[in-house]
Amino acid sequence: MAFFEVRRIVKNFGGLCAVHEISFSLEKGQVIGLIGPNGSGKTTIFNLINNFFPLTAGEIYFKGKRIDSLPTHKICALGIARTFQVVKPLKRMSVLDNVMAGAFLHTGSTSQARARALEILEFCNLINKRDLDAKKLTIADRKRLEIARALSTDPELLLLDETAAGLNPKETEEAIEVIKKISRSGIAIIIVEHKMKVIMGTSEKIVAINFGREITQGEPREVINHPEVIKAYLGD
Ligand code: ADP
Repeated sequence: MAFFEVRRIVKNFGGLCAVHEISFSLEKGQVIGLIGPNGSGKTTIFNLINNFFPLTAGEIYFKGKRIDSLPTHKICALGIARTFQVVKPLKRMSVLDNVMAGAFLHTGSTSQARARALEILEFCNLINKRDLDAKKLTIADRKRLEIARALSTDPELLLLDETAAGLNPKETEEAIEVIKKISRSGIAIIIVEHKMKVIMGTSEKIVAINFGREITQGEPREVINHPEVIKAYLGD
C-alpha cells in the first residue's frame, strides 16, 4: 500500500460537486503538485485530507490506516500538517514563540519545544529573526514561519497551500530550496501552487484537475503539455 492515498474522493456542497472521484497516492518523501484553475477544487482536497470537511464519498489512507473519519487534531497528531494560503501567525508573539507553541503541543516539555523550535528555525533560514514580532516579518518570512509552524508538529506529510504567492523571483527560488530541503529530510509533500516554476522545480508527479475532476496525472512535463491542461489554463 502507498504511504498516502486518496481513493475516489468526492465532495458535494449542496448541489455543487467541488471534488469528483479524485484518486492519487504518494510515497514517503515524495513531492506531488496539485494544479488547476481557480475554483477547481484544490483547497477543498486539502480540507478533505485533514477532515475540515467530511467526505461525501471515497477513502483516505495514511501509512496503511484509513483516516477519513478521524477528527482533524488526530490526523495532525498522526503526522499530517498543513499551511494556509492566507497566513495567520500568532502576530503578537515572537517568531520563536510561534514555532515553540506548535512544538510544545507535540513534545509537552518547554525545554524540548525550545530546542526543537530553534532547530526548525535554523532549517527554515529564520534563526536570525527568532526574536522579532511575527507581525514585523516580510511576506516571504511569514510564509517561511508558516512552514516552520507546520514542521513543529513533526509531520511525515506536509500540505503546502500557495507558499510562493506574493513572493518576488529571488524569494520564490528560496521557497523552492526550502521545499526541496524538507523533502530531502524524508517528509512527503503535496503542493498547491499557482507558480508553475515552483511546481516544476519540486514535484515528481502532478495531478491536474478542473471542475473537481482529474484531467490527467503523472510525470510533470507530460502533464503540463497535455492539451486538456493547456485548454483549462487558457480558459478555452
Ligand atoms: P481552488 O482551491 O482550486 O481554487 P476550491 O477548492 O476553493 O478551489 O473550490 C472548489 C469549488 O468548491 C468552488 O466552486 C467553490 O466555490 C466551492 N466551495 C469551496 N468551499 C466551499 C464551501 N465551504 N461551501 C460551498 N462551496 C464551497
